[in-house]
Amino acid sequence: MSSAMSRSREIRFRSRPEGAPSAANFELAEVSLDAPADGEVQVRNLWMSVDPYMRGRMTERTSYVSGFELGKVLQGGAVGEVVVSNADGFVPGDLVQSMLGWREGFNAPAASLQKLPDLPLPPEAYLGVAGLPGLTAYVGMSNIAEVKPGDVVFVSAAAGAVGSVACQIAKIKGATVVGSAGGIEKCAFLRDIGVDQVIDYKAETDLTEALARVAPDGIDVCFENVGGVHLEAALANAKFFARFALCGNISNYNKQAEGPRNIEIAVTHSLRLQGFIVSNYFHLMPKFAREVSQWVAAGKMQWRQTVVDGLEQAPDAFGRLFTGEKLGKMLVKLA
Ligand code: NDP
Repeated sequence: MSSAMSRSREIRFRSRPEGAPSAANFELAEVSLDAPADGEVQVRNLWMSVDPYMRGRMTERTSYVSGFELGKVLQGGAVGEVVVSNADGFVPGDLVQSMLGWREGFNAPAASLQKLPDLPLPPEAYLGVAGLPGLTAYVGMSNIAEVKPGDVVFVSAAAGAVGSVACQIAKIKGATVVGSAGGIEKCAFLRDIGVDQVIDYKAETDLTEALARVAPDGIDVCFENVGGVHLEAALANAKFFARFALCGNISNYNKQAEGPRNIEIAVTHSLRLQGFIVSNYFHLMPKFAREVSQWVAAGKMQWRQTVVDGLEQAPDAFGRLFTGEKLGKMLVKLA
């Protein structure tokens, strides 16, 4: 069990990225930590998550989640260990989840922490397969796209944290799955997890043709993570009444959004396009976490993670979400 902390390093938001995020947008600082006040708990973070939505929080426009403040420590999902407790219900050694990532340790009111569920999963899984990315995949496939046996499902950014879980949930639901990802290693991973047809989009000149080649009768469902030409390809290959779960648009996060240029197909093909934000479905988390742990135990759900060591690596880990230099869930190990 770790001891109390007197200092913590943190990453602050130094400047807004113009285009892709870079090291210059971040600043490493050190703060001192007192003993936790009444009702507070001191936590040493073990793992922190970097997620694409954080890019949206770095812009000035308002969105579904408030923006990061310049000069202040960044925030995000983290898993840590209680080292000192001055609050009922927490004791040293408890593993907890918070939105107080991008720092090595902190004091916080007990209400801002959730204990990890007692399930046979490693702590960092609650930032990936059994956490927000996994729940996003679950909501998109179940509540939004309503995937059913026999559907042909297309998933973009399929080898990522959300996409890889989305593919496996679609398989569990009896669908045929087409996944697209960038590069040989990611495509091999997709085949390993049972994806029926794989598109290496970086090796294709025309994604619409590539999707038509592997799904010649069209797709019933699109789980869209990327947007741009991926969404155009999905629209061009949609069957009548196909359902689109619009989860993300990462190809446009660092630039002015482009396309889709064929949105009229939504009309001509009577498509249902529905966006969603996972935070509106947090009430499903306990049920989802139990189900995912059962799927893991039954060998129906696998995951990969790319881990970098040390808080100072967090900005680089964040940047790799946009260059794709990682496989599965991108994580920063802090202790
Ligand atoms: P990933 O682990 O999938 O990492 C991002 C991946 O996006 C990269 O690995 C890369 O895939 C792909 N990518 C990045 N830029 C491009 C580009 N220009 N063209 C094509 N692919 C690109 O991230 P997550 O799984 O955490 O997130 C996936 C998506 O889900 C994001 O759009 C995110 O915003 C969204 N999301 C939405 C939520 C919601 O509530 N709606 C909640 C959580 C996530 P590759 O390596 O194959 O090139």
